[in-house]
Amino acid sequence: MRRSSTYLVALGSNRRHHRYGAPGGVVRAAMEELAAFGTVTARSPVIATPAMGAARRRFANAVLVLESERDPPALLAALKRTEREFGRRPGQRWGDRVLDLDIVLWSGGAWVSKILTIPHPGFARRRFVLAPACTVAPDWRTPPHGLTLAHHQARLT
Ligand code: ATP
Ligand code: CA
Ligand code: CA
Repeated sequence: MRRSSTYLVALGSNRRHHRYGAPGGVVRAAMEELAAFGTVTARSPVIATPAMGAARRRFANAVLVLESERDPPALLAALKRTEREFGRRPGQRWGDRVLDLDIVLWSGGAWVSKILTIPHPGFARRRFVLAPACTVAPDWRTPPHGLTLAHHQARLT
């Protein structure tokens, strides 16, 4: 039997979806879809985040914990496919998008390749990741120094 991994996945949206409606509804619908890739063991509340970077509209953000037999590149491919299925078109990084799915952490520790970096490089500076993450996994220790998510959040404030 293949060993399963635990992932912390971040979700974000700042555009309406023709079926799921406002960004909060998009994020909740995407949380349902991610159950297809393993077992969702925890979900944060969906929070509202002000627009940032090139984005013009405010975001809905959340995280979930996923147990999956997929390795990190396979999970990334599945997440990108889901983004496309939700109607995301290639475009400006940080811009308006109907759905963004990022792998924040992985039980295997660090992963660095051309297409995938875990931990996600921005997570420790992002309240919209850390706040929901601390509602589901405050004690998760992160590479390279082993700080917990709660500790990262405390450093931000
Ligand atoms: P940011 O990564 O700063 O949150 P973004 O989510 O807007 O910005 P995208 O345009 O969605 O950036 O993704 C750019 C590329 O980042 C993806 O094509 C993917 O290959 C790569 N990437 C690297 N590490 C990760 C990760 N941990 N999770 C998701 N994508 C990643
Ligand atoms: Ca992102
Ligand atoms: Ca992304």
